[in-house]
Amino acid sequence: MNYEVVIGLETHVELSTESKIFCSCGGHSAAKEPNDCVCPACSGMPGMLPVMNKRVVELAVTAGLMLNCEISRYTTFDKKNYYYPDLPCAYQITQLNHPICTNGLVSVGKRDIRIKQIHMEEDAGKLVHEGKFSFVDFNRTSVPLIEIVTQPDFRSAEEVVSYLTKLKSMFRSGGISECEEGAMRCDINISVRPEGSEEYGVRTEIKNMSSLEAIEKAIRYESQRHIDAIEFETEELVQETRRFDDVSGKTFAMRNKETEADYRYFPDANIMPIIIDDEWLEQIKSAKPVAIDEKAEAYRNAGISEKEIEMLIGNFKISKLLDDVIALGCNAKDSAAWILTDCAGILRKGGLLLNDLDITPEALSTIIKQVETGKINRAAGRKVLIAVIEDKADPTEFIKKNSLDAKLDENAINAVIEKVIAANEAAVADYKSGKEKALQAIFGSCMRELKGAGDPAVIKSLLEKKLK
Ligand code: ADP
Ligand code: MG
Ligand code: ZN
Repeated sequence: MNYEVVIGLETHVELSTESKIFCSCGGHSAAKEPNDCVCPACSGMPGMLPVMNKRVVELAVTAGLMLNCEISRYTTFDKKNYYYPDLPCAYQITQLNHPICTNGLVSVGKRDIRIKQIHMEEDAGKLVHEGKFSFVDFNRTSVPLIEIVTQPDFRSAEEVVSYLTKLKSMFRSGGISECEEGAMRCDINISVRPEGSEEYGVRTEIKNMSSLEAIEKAIRYESQRHIDAIEFETEELVQETRRFDDVSGKTFAMRNKETEADYRYFPDANIMPIIIDDEWLEQIKSAKPVAIDEKAEAYRNAGISEKEIEMLIGNFKISKLLDDVIALGCNAKDSAAWILTDCAGILRKGGLLLNDLDITPEALSTIIKQVETGKINRAAGRKVLIAVIEDKADPTEFIKKNSLDAKLDENAINAVIEKVIAANEAAVADYKSGKEKALQAIFGSCMRELKGAGDPAVIKSLLEKKLK
């Protein structure tokens, strides 16, 4: 019999805020040493009260808008009670009853994935085990998270990977999260059913997965385990929580699945309900970055290649630079090539990545425009770009100082051509006797003599004219 895999995801994403969700300690990337960013509130001292970080609400709403969700106008927090050494309050503040976003939809290839809800919550701390000692680091306690819960709409590991890749791009380009290693973690719920069946099978949940490669492996292993269990009655499937072991490539039972009642959820009376009124919602909407699909489409319409689009969409900093340069009046397709090929190449030579690029949109657009309007040629433009990137040169000054555009007028070019012709009698004679190839050599000498200044097409036509 053929089986269909059914998957639903719960994805936790750490938000890029400057401070934690309920206190003013530095946020996710602020800590340098263990227990650096800790105060009485986020280390769970008795009687300390949470104060809501407004930015968390705005980022959660922005994520909801990007995933086509309904935004709740009334949203509240609940306490989820459990005891663990990395959870100093012995409860996690999360949202159960009135989550911030519901009923979204995101397309992954041909499949529509329904988003059940997005809720805000605080992260727990970290335990560090060394020999017979265990240490606790509270830097991560109360770092803001959003949890995005899908309906069981995925039908393959590939769809899950595409979805997560898309979320990462979206959240990076929206300034919601940098989604670095470990800042995006998933619980994967899996069941299988005979093809054509309408009923869901027993599901298991694989906790806390972050590498896409491991996620793919875990889904393949776990779905096959389900199929074997049903087909060959190798074991009885029970609803439980499992963990994936990367070394063996297998999943292992951790515990029976807790039910809601196990956590004794109740409303957190320390945090007032949050009302999102029209004015605030409009404000968030107007600051919302263009959705990723629209942006990719705009790039595509401007003639930018799929490969370049992929590089741009995943990189907020670089796509913003491109957008700024385009806004300053440069051609989109050319500008993409300048950034993704020329800038990237210059940085690579210095052992740097595109993300290390440090150039203002103004400087870059100055160079691109000089080339686009034929004031300097492309090779000269590249020289300027190197000087700007490597030596922080001012493009206009650099062009002037190196006379990259000085010899533009025909007289100056003709003078150089005459000099080159006089110095290359043999090649000129060859050309005149019909050897077309000789022209290329003479042209090359002219270009060298002009040190990259002037428009190559103009130089070539002047040269041909002279030789006739
Ligand atoms: P719980 O409250 O028990 O965690 P939810 O309804 O919130 O259950 O579902 C948790 C996740 O499990 C969701 O992402 C959902 O899509 C997924 N899920 C639910 N049923 C199944 C199933 N039969 N197979 C795969 N995933 C499922
Ligand atoms: Mg759940
Ligand atoms: Zn704190």
